[in-house]
Amino acid sequence: MSLREFLERMEDQGEVIHVKDSVSVDFEISAIMKSVPNAPIIFFDNVEGFNVRVVGNVCATRRRLCLAIGTTQDRLYRDLIEAINRPETPRIVDDGPVREVVEEPKLSRIPVLRHFERDAGPYITSAIVSARSPDGKIENVSVHRLLVLDDRRMAIRLVPRHLFRLWSMARETGRSLDVAIAIGVHPAVLLAAASSPPFGVSEYGVANRLLNGRLTLIKCEKVDAYAPAESEIILEGRISHVEEVPEGPFVDITGAYDARRMQPIVEVINVMRREDYIYQALLPGGPEHMLLMGLPREAAIYDAVSKVVPEVRAVNLTMGGCGWLHAVISIRKQSDGDAKNALLAAFAAHPSLKHAVIVDEDVDVFNMSDVEWAIATRFQASEDLMIIRNVRGSTLDPSADMETGLTTKVGLDATAPLTHPRDRFERARVPVSERALRVIEEVRRRLEGRGG
Ligand code: MN
Repeated sequence: MSLREFLERMEDQGEVIHVKDSVSVDFEISAIMKSVPNAPIIFFDNVEGFNVRVVGNVCATRRRLCLAIGTTQDRLYRDLIEAINRPETPRIVDDGPVREVVEEPKLSRIPVLRHFERDAGPYITSAIVSARSPDGKIENVSVHRLLVLDDRRMAIRLVPRHLFRLWSMARETGRSLDVAIAIGVHPAVLLAAASSPPFGVSEYGVANRLLNGRLTLIKCEKVDAYAPAESEIILEGRISHVEEVPEGPFVDITGAYDARRMQPIVEVINVMRREDYIYQALLPGGPEHMLLMGLPREAAIYDAVSKVVPEVRAVNLTMGGCGWLHAVISIRKQSDGDAKNALLAAFAAHPSLKHAVIVDEDVDVFNMSDVEWAIATRFQASEDLMIIRNVRGSTLDPSADMETGLTTKVGLDATAPLTHPRDRFERARVPVSERALRVIEEVRRRLEGRGG
């Protein structure tokens, strides 16, 4: 259950392209990842100044994430919720491929990318960070950006969530927090680390459930923390309880620069890695970033809205909405208040959500023209618009208060009112005969043949 096994499978399925040209970790890999269309997995086989390979876009499509956890788009949310509700503790092993090399840290030997022009420096963006409470009873695994400061030190962005809480617990006892920082893990582990089970539930348990009990962990050599035994590279470190440095600017999920803040230092004290480790790159603000952060939230929205309306058909945290701030949700409603209840449930399920649109089941949430059509023909602002002022939103939204996260949320009920006859909102269709269908398919083939 390793990243490389997954990559081999994807190679067989034609999902991988190789870049053989020599490329730099300073902006070049990032520029290529940002420009190549349709987000294939990209292997950079020749990274200037390093003798290891870099891989990017691993989880950048819904299809690949489904393949990684052996599910389909239809079952994805239910599988994720099931894994969050019924985690399974992974097995701990004494040895693993990640122990091929154990060495003193020298972070400048790792091909960490500089992504955007004004970023504060090279950032590790695909790492999962795991830690335990001082009594060892609570474990947390989450994704954090890490700014490399020198060969042994990084700055870590700790949003006030679970890892922050563990760090605060350690700090109260006058100690730093031991962490395992793993890079190059199976997509299921990344997805689980991006999900938000309640505090006290280890995301490793969620990942293990997604992988049908096939995740194994290994204990770090020098710190009290655990990481996947099949990781590509593990940095063992301690988050300082006293030392802070300015962190940022950094381009986050919105594609805008996140603010500069004082953040704690991680001191790396030991490194375990595979001999020929693969460094995983993750482009901030790219589709992979949006999907990994967004999918667990889509599942949470699906779950919450399912409790208040007869049926949820689909949820899309749209790419245009940064995979984070905008949701389109299609429902089958029973009464006219259903869509507004759906909006309230969605805002509660994903606190960063800012704008949400509810559409009927005949509207494709993944087709933005379709969604706009529903707003154009089924929405009346005086009746169907909901504005909620001064609520907690995302600190990543430049238009919100980036310190407090206070924002204004807007919900649109773009479902057709049941009080009017249904045919008034019907989308007109043309009957398609078999002969017409044959002609259509033939024309399509010809157009594709032109390489269109
Ligand atoms: Mn957690």
